[in-house]
Amino acid sequence: MQILDGKIVSQITKDKIQEEVASLIQQGFRAPHLVAVIVGNDGASETYVASKEKNSKKVGMDSTVIRLPENVSETELLAEIKKLNDDDNIDGILVQLPLPKHIDSQKVIEFIDPLKDVDGFHPINVGLMCKGLPTLLPATPYGILLLLEHYKINTSGMHCVVIGRSDIVGKPMSILMSRNEQPGNCTVTLCHSKTKDLASFTKQADIVIAALGKPMNITAEMIKEGAIVIDVGITRVNDDSAKGYSIKGDVDFDAVAPKTSFITPVPGGVGAMTIAGVIQNTLNAYKNNYLKR
Ligand code: NAP
Repeated sequence: MQILDGKIVSQITKDKIQEEVASLIQQGFRAPHLVAVIVGNDGASETYVASKEKNSKKVGMDSTVIRLPENVSETELLAEIKKLNDDDNIDGILVQLPLPKHIDSQKVIEFIDPLKDVDGFHPINVGLMCKGLPTLLPATPYGILLLLEHYKINTSGMHCVVIGRSDIVGKPMSILMSRNEQPGNCTVTLCHSKTKDLASFTKQADIVIAALGKPMNITAEMIKEGAIVIDVGITRVNDDSAKGYSIKGDVDFDAVAPKTSFITPVPGGVGAMTIAGVIQNTLNAYKNNYLKR
């Protein structure tokens, strides 16, 4: 069993980006600029945005966080995004989800300039991804591809079972693993909460990508000997520790790991790679827009 170490691969990815950014600045170009918009004071959203800000600054990018109050109107939020869309000095925009209930998230996603959509959620980018055309990929699936690529795992011909069909993880992951590229070329089964007898599918899988958001749900009996297991889940589970909680993945790591050929830990697996995906997307957007202008 080998750990797919998201912390290390994320650092390697960011080091490469840092070198490239430094070289671009030395050549007289401006730094890439990522802007994150956060609405309200949700604790988890604050943590994610702080991490994106810290990491983009570390690689030499400019990074701005725009904080809007919980009661901001949809019109005001869209006006803020329009300013960012129109600003040639901004390369990447992300609006941290979830948004308060009175705001239509889909409308907001569709309002972001697709060329600056570093979360890869805009329908135009999703369409390009489905067609296998170059685009900004959703950050978490993109991070998983970078991880598989780093460990030179040849996924061609494998049976990949993706659990979860959300727009941000499961659905795009299933498309990317079935594309005619490496990593990819898998036979993909996409499972969800209405799937009957989930274990009958996971037991056949060479790769299981678990993104159901149910802690420790994927048990050793559900996994084939030698399978690759990618755990996307992040759930806070209350316990007796000093913090009062711990972060759990969707996979029962201790029981499953010995059966696998490769497995991601939680934390230190996919979460770290998601940040790398966002930062890489920002550099990609900058190169496609600013450098080509
Ligand atoms: P989501 O929108 O809640 O989607 C969960 C998906 O899992 C749904 O498609 C649901 O099916 C399916 N599902 C739920 N229970 C199931 C079960 N018992 N068996 C089979 N399928 C089941 O979640 P998400 O946004 O994709 O996130 C999933 C997990 O990944 C969460 O823990 C989240 O915190 C984590 N996450 C981590 C990262 C990271 O960077 N590591 C990034 C994003 C998300 P239905 O469609 O039928 O409801």
